[in-house]
Amino acid sequence: MFITFEGIDGCGKTTQARLVADYLGNHLPPHRWLATKEPGDWSKGKMLRQILLEGELAHPLSELFLFLVDRCEHLDEVVMPALKEGRVVLCDRYVDSTLAYQVWGRGLPRQEVEALFRWCAFPRPDLTIWFDLPPLHALDRMKRRGSVDRIESAEPSFLHRVALGYESLWLEDPGRICRLDASLSETELFARLLPLLQKAIGR
Ligand code: C5P
Ligand code: MG
Repeated sequence: MFITFEGIDGCGKTTQARLVADYLGNHLPPHRWLATKEPGDWSKGKMLRQILLEGELAHPLSELFLFLVDRCEHLDEVVMPALKEGRVVLCDRYVDSTLAYQVWGRGLPRQEVEALFRWCAFPRPDLTIWFDLPPLHALDRMKRRGSVDRIESAEPSFLHRVALGYESLWLEDPGRICRLDASLSETELFARLLPLLQKAIGR
């Protein structure tokens, strides 16, 4: 079972991923599940994450390709072995992030990006949770916690385009992508998320 979490920066998906990991830790033995994230959660991923989030990249395609390298390595080293063992894999960000950020956000051509996805043979998630939060609300949250990386401190219109990307992807594939209202409190949001998770993992 491959579950992915998606949403714009500041939407609270990382907090929810932590709550889900706590839940899984209490309900499944350790060898039955895995919580991981993109970019960077593999042996040499820290380096790549640093280049992605701190470096200034000159070529307009570098960012896309670095995210794809990160995904290929992360899949091979972390995600695929766990899926083959039959684990529940929860991944914070995946292909929809590339579409939302690099296609809708940066304006790269979707067809070419999706051709690369096919070439890389990225597996399709069984379930994707989209934490939907209006960009203004997200920007406000980020301001309060202190904006951190290069991408998070991009201009507000960028985040608007990314949000529009997520909405479009959800409209195209509502069977896979479940929308949750991320403006709810942490606890309320988790209460809505839990039944989706329980259904997916058969509990
Ligand atoms: O979710 P997290 O904050 O760890 O993601 C790292 C950063 O990478 C975020 O600021 C996100 O906006 C950015 N990102 C991106 N394109 C992707 C995936 C993540 O710009 N495909
Ligand atoms: Mg972030």
